Amino acid sequence: MKKIAFFPGSFDPFTKGHHDIVMRGLTIFDEIIIGIGHNANKVRYFPIEKMTTWIEQTFEGKPVKVVSYNDLTANIAKQMNADFILRGLRNTTDFEYENSIAQVNRYLVEGMETVFLITSPHLAPISSTIIRDLHRYGTNIDDFIPYNLD
Ligand code: ADP
Repeated sequence: MKKIAFFPGSFDPFTKGHHDIVMRGLTIFDEIIIGIGHNANKVRYFPIEKMTTWIEQTFEGKPVKVVSYNDLTANIAKQMNADFILRGLRNTTDFEYENSIAQVNRYLVEGMETVFLITSPHLAPISSTIIRDLHRYGTNIDDFIPYNLD
């Protein structure tokens, strides 16, 4: 059976840290579905349509799909036939949060396992929040993202 993982996040923007998790995830899973969580009450910095295109271009030719969703992560993962949720762990703060979320996801969908990959050390300081701030105040962010902004 095909091993499909759902990689959820805000991806505002998708960074080289996220890219690293997907590339390493592809050595474990047959297919990865990147799910851009979309909260109607939250205004994004980078539009979801643009981010979808940029991520699709980044993984062209690889077994990676991009979807956007507005639902509970476990439910959408199940709908997509994914048996695994993939997440990256940078530090203990990530761990505290991820621990609870993983328990809830397994409560919602029986057998839904969350697989964590520890961030590659050189990418650990990269966060979407910081990159958004750099961009907002005019700094070039090309070193932190795996695609060209256009
Ligand atoms: P969320 O809003 O769900 O935290 P993010 O887009 O910030 O979404 O992150 C999605 C996933 O990627 C999370 O599991 C997060 O821990 C992980 N992640 C974020 N930045 C990095 C990084 N630099 N290296 C590895 N994983 C990361």
